[in-house]
Amino acid sequence: RGEIAHPVALAVDVAGPGRVIPRCSGIEDDFFATDGQITRRPMRALALSALAPRSGETLWDIGGGSGSIGIEWCLADRANRATSIEPRPDRAARIRANADRLGVDLGVVEGRAPEALDALPPPQAVFIGGGLSEALLADLRDRLAPGTRLVAHAVTLESEALLAAGSARLGGELLRVSLSAATPLGGRRGWTAAYPVVQWRVVL
Ligand code: SAH
Repeated sequence: RGEIAHPVALAVDVAGPGRVIPRCSGIEDDFFATDGQITRRPMRALALSALAPRSGETLWDIGGGSGSIGIEWCLADRANRATSIEPRPDRAARIRANADRLGVDLGVVEGRAPEALDALPPPQAVFIGGGLSEALLADLRDRLAPGTRLVAHAVTLESEALLAAGSARLGGELLRVSLSAATPLGGRRGWTAAYPVVQWRVVL
């Protein structure tokens, strides 16, 4: 697997020099180069758990950002395939570089969903981490085979409302996750809250 520069913990694994990649989902954020658009470790672990990759399956990672979801899907099993869809050229290039460095064969499509999905082989699972809209959900419902697993994350009230409406129509599980991390507060510590994330998962 790829070589990762890291000031603290360098190790050698069987595939050559570099930092050892844990076998779990939800690896440290600093495995990924990012401009800040990344699903952070705890939420990423919950996303992968909901996506539930099985060996040999294919994922569409809509709203690729830094590519962390598609990359972890591929890390889960060598036979897995994923494509990240990301309209911004700088981010698409970053996703490509992250995948190369971590040694996974991730497809990257520079474009917008749903238009950019036409040429892709059908997936067993789809993650929506960006680009959520009524039109995208309607398109996916028409396009995806019954049995496809869909997982979407929302942070804004507007995208959260889309997931609430979608789950009222199609069922599945709606989860709201509010995480806080301990941070310095004067000479003591307090909880810094992240924006709550709403996760919808449904089997179509
Ligand atoms: N899950 C990602 C972070 C997602 S950030 C990670 O872990 O790295 C959301 C991304 O969605 C942004 O990079 C944005 O450019 C992208 N996006 C916005 N609209 C989109 C659309 N219609 N299709 C695909 N991606 C879109």
